[in-house]
Amino acid sequence: MVKMKESIKKRKEKKTKERRKNKKIKVKKNPKILVLKSLDYLFNSALKIDDKDLQKELIIQAENYSKKHKVRIPYKYRVLYCKNCKTIYKESIRRIKNLKYKTLNITCENCGFLRRVNLEKLREEE
Ligand SMILES: [Zn+2]
Repeated sequence: MVKMKESIKKRKEKKTKERRKNKKIKVKKNPKILVLKSLDYLFNSALKIDDKDLQKELIIQAENYSKKHKVRIPYKYRVLYCKNCKTIYKESIRRIKNLKYKTLNITCENCGFLRRVNLEKLREEE
């Protein structure tokens, strides 16, 4: 009886090992973490550069990348740039806090596009 039990245990171990192997393959097929990492890299490098045209190119690249892999750009990065002309906001830009609706109104220096940022959403992600 003891031998029988041992053999059953061995079989179960084999099955679990196979399942683990399959799981590893699934992780490779779904590269959401990798996509997020590369988005981090793209936005961080865009923030360091002063050249506006290069910034635009990097942002468009990041948007296309996220569309291709069906992964949304994190809200903290989406807030950083103008949706209309793809330029990163400067710190000196006009920002108006609306405490009633808990939003931040930002107007773009380049094209005058007005944008509302949800402050609660930003806090949740941090
Ligand atoms: Zn703009």
